[in-house]
Amino acid sequence: ALPVLAVIGRPNVGKSTLVNRVLGHREAVVQDVPGVTRDRVMYPAEWAGRNFTLIDTGGWELDVAGMAASVAKQAEIAVELADAVMFVVDATVGPTDTDEQVVRLLRRSGKPVVLVANKVDSSMQEADATTLWSLGLGQPWPVSALHGRGSGDVLDEAIRVL
Ligand code: GDP
Ligand code: MG
Repeated sequence: ALPVLAVIGRPNVGKSTLVNRVLGHREAVVQDVPGVTRDRVMYPAEWAGRNFTLIDTGGWELDVAGMAASVAKQAEIAVELADAVMFVVDATVGPTDTDEQVVRLLRRSGKPVVLVANKVDSSMQEADATTLWSLGLGQPWPVSALHGRGSGDVLDEAIRVL
């Protein structure tokens, strides 16, 4: 079976936008309104000559109360399925309590994690990404999934740990 790379994180941080970067076309549904459900979450993908299964999360309807619980539950399922994880955080917002909750789950899993500091659209915003060192997951990779800035580097790293 192909290795599985899961993209997790809070609603609206840019997970589906990043998935579309990997796929090279718009297939994952990008939503300005968080929490919109769609069914497709697993995509056959290729990067740097490696074939793998890419999991987008965020659209799973789960019977849990509250946004934080839903994010954590989706992350838990995805991490279970994954060989490696891309944890996407909105660098313009910085780490939230929900992000910290996901970090605890990631630590328990022992799976390799690449920390994506997304929405770093310009060099001026790179300082935003440094606040994510506090999550304790190592280097935050500054990325603009929207414009492609830094996305090749972080995907190379994800493939390296996959
Ligand atoms: P998801 O809920 O995590 O899957 O997030 P989406 O991929 O649906 O994106 C949510 C919103 O953030 C959309 O309006 C995207 O266009 C926007 N977005 C995603 N990545 C970036 C980025 O790198 N920079 C900026 N400025 N906006 C982004
Ligand atoms: Mg999405």
